[in-house]
Amino acid sequence: MTDSDNQQKWPALPATLSNIAVTKNSGKYESVSSNYFKVGHPRLVFMAENDEQVSHVVEYAGNVQRFVGHQIPFSVRSGGHGITNYSVNDGGIIIDLSQMNQVNILDEAKGLVKVQAGAVWGDVADKISKADLVLSSGDFGDTGVGGLATSGGLGLLVRKQGLTTDQILGATIITADGKKRNVNKEENSDLFWAIRGGGSQVGIVTEFIFQADKVEPAKSGQRVPIGTMIK
Ligand SMILES: Cc1cc2nc3c(=O)[nH]c(=O)nc-3n(C[C@H](O)[C@H](O)[C@H](O)COP(=O)(O)OP(=O)(O)OC[C@H]3O[C@@H](n4cnc5c(N)ncnc54)[C@H](O)[C@@H]3O)c2cc1C
Repeated sequence: MTDSDNQQKWPALPATLSNIAVTKNSGKYESVSSNYFKVGHPRLVFMAENDEQVSHVVEYAGNVQRFVGHQIPFSVRSGGHGITNYSVNDGGIIIDLSQMNQVNILDEAKGLVKVQAGAVWGDVADKISKADLVLSSGDFGDTGVGGLATSGGLGLLVRKQGLTTDQILGATIITADGKKRNVNKEENSDLFWAIRGGGSQVGIVTEFIFQADKVEPAKSGQRVPIGTMIK
């Protein structure tokens, strides 16, 4: 990105996005433009709060590209712990999902857990361990659900439960056309296959349904095991 690229005119922000856009003039810019490894210099960061806003950001990014006549950098960030640095960029758009961080137990007996992509694994562990449920994830509590669950997920429970991707029963994704799609074994099964390892190559995952395991509390009454996750 050159300086002249950065000054190039972009289409006006739609009303649905102006409240969640962070620009260089905002006091928040510095804290939302980087990830764990890299300082980014995006032109815009969108702090999405729901699926509709994620769709609108994807549509807006498409409009910008058509308007300027070339590709612009576009990054998806959940926890910002990505080692590849793809979750930040210079001169483009970052969509940040950290506001979409709800963790809900749908069915305690069956171990069904719904988690938004912007949650971090420490919060997932805190919430589900209260119901004696565990999910294989990473061993670092600040790592994001979105990046880890779309790329593999190697954690303390890997020998028992496998990878985090093995525990995904379904997800909601926003694809490049801005459409929201449910993906699971029956519905959009090709996309369901692709998100379990394909990361952001096929869309933005906003929510996962996971199969957690039930564990018995230790006799000491101490709750198990993800308390060992580093925070
Ligand atoms: C300190 C540290 C400890 C770690 N420990 C472990 C560990 O124990 N086990 C393990 O398996 N890994 C571990 N990792 C690696 C980590 O799981 C991956 O880098 C993971 O991608 C980070 O996810 P994130 O959401 O925090 O990252 P982000 O930087 O937000 O994203 C990383 C990548 O995933 C893509 N992405 C993010 N969110 C979404 C989404 N919602 N939909 C589609 N694509 C998305 C991004 O575009 C980017 O390419 C660790 C990394 C760090 C820095």
